[in-house]
This record gives sequence, C-alpha cells and structure tokens, in this order.
Amino acid sequence: MTPVEANSVRDLLTFYVESGVDVALDEAPANRFADQLAPAPATDPGAAAAVRPLPELRPAAPAAVAAPPPPLPEEAIMAARAAARSAASLEALREIMAAFEGCALRTTAKQLVFGDGNPQARLMFVGEAPGSEEDQKGIPFVGRSGQLLDRMLGAIGIARSDVYIANIVPWRPPGNRDPSIHETQICLPFIQRQIELVGPQVLVCLGKPSTATLLGVTDGIRRTRGRWFTYRSEAQEIRAMPTYHPAYLLRTPIEKRLAWRDFLAIKKVLAG
Ligand code: URA
Repeated sequence: MTPVEANSVRDLLTFYVESGVDVALDEAPANRFADQLAPAPATDPGAAAAVRPLPELRPAAPAAVAAPPPPLPEEAIMAARAAARSAASLEALREIMAAFEGCALRTTAKQLVFGDGNPQARLMFVGEAPGSEEDQKGIPFVGRSGQLLDRMLGAIGIARSDVYIANIVPWRPPGNRDPSIHETQICLPFIQRQIELVGPQVLVCLGKPSTATLLGVTDGIRRTRGRWFTYRSEAQEIRAMPTYHPAYLLRTPIEKRLAWRDFLAIKKVLAG
C-alpha cells in the first residue's frame, strides 16, 4: 500500500468511527445491495445488459466457532438475578459479571466497565452505559462527560475518589446507541446488587434512563431533576436524586446552573 493509499484508508476508518461504525461484526464485508441489484430473471433481453456488473465479492469466511445463541431475555434476566444475588462483595460481583454471558453487548464491547471509586462511598452516581473511552479503559465516566462530572464534584469540595460511579449497563452498546429495554432489564439486577453492596447514603441518577430504570419515574429529566426520591432495595432505602447527565450539560451549558443547585442540595444532605 502506498502512503497515499494508507492515508485514504486511515481517513475512511476515522470517518467510520466518528459516524459510530466502530465494530466489525463479520470477518468479511458483505455486499447487502447485491441481492437487491442482482438482475431479475430476464424477460426483456435488453434489461440485463443495462444492469452494471457487480464487483466480485469474496465469499464470507466461515465463522471460526459457531457462537451459541444468546439466552432468551427472560432466561437471561433470571440468570442475572440469581448471579447478582450470589455476590457477597463488589469484587465477587465484578467477577460474576465478567463471566456472565446473558447480555449480547459483551460480545461487541471491549471489556466490562464495572465501577470506579470508593466502595464505601456515601455518594454514588449511576449513568446509562459506557462510551468509547470508558470501553477502552474499563472505567466509567473517564471521557469528556466524566471530566465534567469530576469538575462538578470538585466544585462542591468532593473528590472523585470519595464517591462511587457505575452505569445501568456495564458494556458499551456498539456505536454508542441507546441500550435496548432487554439489555437494560438483563443488566438491572447487577446494578441493583452493586448499589446494595456500596450502600450509599445518597444515590444520584445521571439522566433520564438511569432515573427511569432505578426509580421507576418516567417523567422527563427536566421535571424530575433536583427532586428527592426514595430508592428501595430489599436491604435498605436510600435518598435518591435525578440530575442532568453531564453529556447533556456539555451540549447545553446553560443548564449547568440547575445542576449546580442539585449538587449543592446533595452536599447539604451529606453534611446534615
Ligand atoms: N455516559 C454514561 O452514561 N456513562 C459513562 O460511563 C460514560 C458516559
């Protein structure tokens, strides 16, 4: 490959990654247009000549090992519940989740993004799902939104290492798409157990998906942010507040003033 060709390939791959196409799902490219463009059985002899010949396609490489089909969502949810319940510590939970095969997201993610921070934190944050940088590093909220979260914490005098941070879904959805309802429901027992094992005094749901999943409140985040709710688990009741997701604040900086109010309210409860 010449340097010019290499640059073109690099530019194309960069374009793919920026467009969210960052996962190769097959060994060989498949031309999905081929079936649509293939000439219909010719009734008009001139018609076939009008169709441009398709480039020759490489036959798809045989899959090295046929992966077993993922379990049905109900089975996967039951398996996740049993697995999560069996974890007696955060470390055990991490190992159980790393071995859990019921969520197909693990096959496209680079790694499990379990949690970060102080396992005995009084303040815990839960986001939606890891992004690209989190997927690379295996740590939640380390990208741009994570850096904003760190600054917001700093502004109320709390270090990131004093809090605990996790996500509803611990594997990055390909191309940063939203996790599906099934994926969310399969992962829910794990984050519930994680919250139970940390046992924070205050739980902060970052954004609407986290709020809806953990608190069962489906109103928009503009209505729920800054209000106190109760998060109930079998073991405890925890004061919980939804606030804006830092990724939203990066896009809508004017809303930072409301997030600031939320953080001051959280600080007050922790001090009281
Ligand atoms: N957004 C999230 O919801 N979680 C992360 O870990 C990063 C970005």
